[in-house]
Amino acid sequence: MADRKTGQTELLYVTSGDMYQPYSYSLGRLGAEFLNTIKEEKRFLGARCPGCNRVYVPPRSVCGRCHMKMEELVPVSDEGEIVACAIIEFGFVDPNTGIARPVPYGTAFIRLDGADTALPHFLDSVDREKVKVGARVKAVFEETRTGKIMDIKHFALIDQYRRPGGSNGFSVE
Ligand SMILES: [Zn+2]
Repeated sequence: MADRKTGQTELLYVTSGDMYQPYSYSLGRLGAEFLNTIKEEKRFLGARCPGCNRVYVPPRSVCGRCHMKMEELVPVSDEGEIVACAIIEFGFVDPNTGIARPVPYGTAFIRLDGADTALPHFLDSVDREKVKVGARVKAVFEETRTGKIMDIKHFALIDQYRRPGGSNGFSVE
């Protein structure tokens, strides 16, 4: 706002107020079984569509393509490949914890073997030569698990040539 008499600009401030915004929502049966299986068995389940056979990880109740209700859960691997990734250099508040995660850190959408969709999570690496689309990763679980998505500590980069003839097009030759 300009002061008409002097022409100088008055500095104004906006404060955020309390930003505490607690929330809760139902995971549904499929989501609950997904997280419970990670918690209890360190394994992944996906929801398989009875119409098009796509396997969703994380599971959802309705297929995004053919809109059929999904009720079947099938096991998928704890290994997969990166389908999109980023190395985060600019800190911001992590919605999972409410605090800023130290930067830099790696994050990716990961398609687990046996799944058709990708799960977003953190990586164990910020190596720009290795964090790439097509890189192979494996889930690392927390020792103490509570039934939350962060029971997966992160995904660790593994030898991208381990799986011959993989869907990412890499081979051992
Ligand atoms: Zn479908």
